[in-house]
Amino acid sequence: MVDDPGLKALGEAARLSPDNLPLRRHLAEQLLSKGYLADAEAEFRAALALAPHDPDIVAGLAEAFVRQSSYGAALSALEPLLAGGAHPPRVGVLAARALLGEGDLHQAAYRYHEAVSRDPSVADADLAARLVTPAPVPDPSAPQPAGNAYLAPSAATHERATAEVERSGFGFADVAGMDEVKEALRVKLLLPIQQPELFAAFGKRAGGGVLLYGPPGAGKTHLARAAAGELGAAFVNVGLADILDMYVGSSERNLRATFDLARRHRPCVLFFDEVDALAARRSDMRQAHNRQIVNQFLAELDGVDQNANEGVLVLAATNAPWYIDVAFRRPGRFDQLVFVPPPDARARAAILRILCRDKPLAEMDFDAVAKVTDQFVGADLKGLVDRAVEAKLHESIRAGRPVPLATRDLLTAAKAARPTAVREWMATARNYVMHANESGAWDELMPWIQRTW
Ligand code: ADP
Repeated sequence: MVDDPGLKALGEAARLSPDNLPLRRHLAEQLLSKGYLADAEAEFRAALALAPHDPDIVAGLAEAFVRQSSYGAALSALEPLLAGGAHPPRVGVLAARALLGEGDLHQAAYRYHEAVSRDPSVADADLAARLVTPAPVPDPSAPQPAGNAYLAPSAATHERATAEVERSGFGFADVAGMDEVKEALRVKLLLPIQQPELFAAFGKRAGGGVLLYGPPGAGKTHLARAAAGELGAAFVNVGLADILDMYVGSSERNLRATFDLARRHRPCVLFFDEVDALAARRSDMRQAHNRQIVNQFLAELDGVDQNANEGVLVLAATNAPWYIDVAFRRPGRFDQLVFVPPPDARARAAILRILCRDKPLAEMDFDAVAKVTDQFVGADLKGLVDRAVEAKLHESIRAGRPVPLATRDLLTAAKAARPTAVREWMATARNYVMHANESGAWDELMPWIQRTW
C-alpha cells in the first residue's frame, strides 16, 4: 500500500488521465525509486501498453522484476531489446543481474562487460565482484617461474584459456539451407587445406578469418561447428566470459592463451562468439583497457610470424557487425564478411527435418509447418520442436506407449510461439547500414534490409 502523499496524488492524477504517458511513466519511476516494487511493476505494465517498445519503460519494468527476484520475467521483458543489438547499456547491466539470478554466470558476465565497455558509468562494483570466476589457486609447492618477482604471481594466477577443445560430430550436411554461405566458407576455409596444390597454383595462401553476422539464432554457431566437423578439425568455442576478466592485463593474457590453445591443436577452428564486445571500434571505447584488448586481438590474428596461425581458422560471429573496428577487416584478419540470413520457407522445412530426424515420427508435412513459421530462425524452430516433443512425451506417458510426433503437433507448437528477433534485427541493421555502405561492405545485406519484414 502506497502511503507517500506525493505518490498518492500522482496515482490519483494517473487514474484520472490513464492515457497520459509521461505522467504514468513518471509515476512508475517514482514508485520504483521509493521501493514500491509491485506497484511500480503494475504502472510500468500500464505504460508499456501505451508505448510497447519504449526501452526506458521496458528497462523500468525489468528492474522492478529483478528487485522482486523475478529474474525469468525480467529476461522475457528484456529479450526483444537484447535481440535488437543496440540496446542502452543500462539494459545490459539489468540483463546481467537477471542472468546471475538465474545462475547463468557466463552470460551474465558477457552482458555486464559488453555494457560497461560501451558506457563505463553503468559499472557496478558489487555486481562485477559477483561475476568474477574464481581464479585457480596457485600451487605453492610448484617451482616459481624465474624473472620479475612482482609480475610472475599475477601472470601465473590469471593467465588461462577456459575455452575447451571439442570435436564436432557433424558437418555441412547437418546445416540446412545456407548454400551460398557454405560455399563461401568452403572456398575460404576448406579448399586451401583440402586441396593446397590448387591454391598454390594460383599463388594464393590460406589464412584470414571470416566474420559471420546476422540475426541471433540464425545458425552462426551451428555453422562454425559444422565447418570444424567438415574439415576434421578441432573446434574451440570461445565465449566472452572465457576472455574478459576484471584484472587489468588478464583479458589480453587470456586471449593469447586461447590462441595458443588453438595453435596446439591444429588443424583447428577457433570460433569467437559475440565478437563485437572484443573487437569494438576503439574510437567508441572510453577505457584504455578495452582498447588494449582490441590491440591484442589484432596482434594475435596477425601472429608473430607468417606461420603462427597456419592451420588455425578463425571464425567469429556477431549480431552487431557495425560495432566492429574496421582494422579487423584488413587482409589476413577478418577479411571476409558473410551474412547468415534468416531461413526462407525451404530452409525452414529442411531445418525442421534435421531437428526431427531422430524422433519417432508419423507422416510429416514439414513444408506446411515452414509455411506458418515466417520469420522463425533456427533457434526458434528448435524451441518449437522441443516444445512439441515435450507435449508428446506427456501424451506418451499417459498412453503408456510412444506416440509419434505428427505435423499437427508442430503446427500447434508454432501457433503458441512467436519469432524472436528478425524484424527488430533488420530494423537495427537498416539504421546502421542503409547510409553507410560506401565501401560496399554491406552489399550482401542490402536486399534483406530493403524489404518489408
Ligand atoms: P546463432 O549462433 O546465430 O545465434 P545458433 O547456431 O546458436 O545461432 O542456432 C541455434 C540452434 O538452431 C542451433 O543449435 C541449431 O540446432 C539450430 N539451427 C540454426 N540454424 C540451423 C540450420 N541451418 N540447420 C540446422 N539447425 C539449425
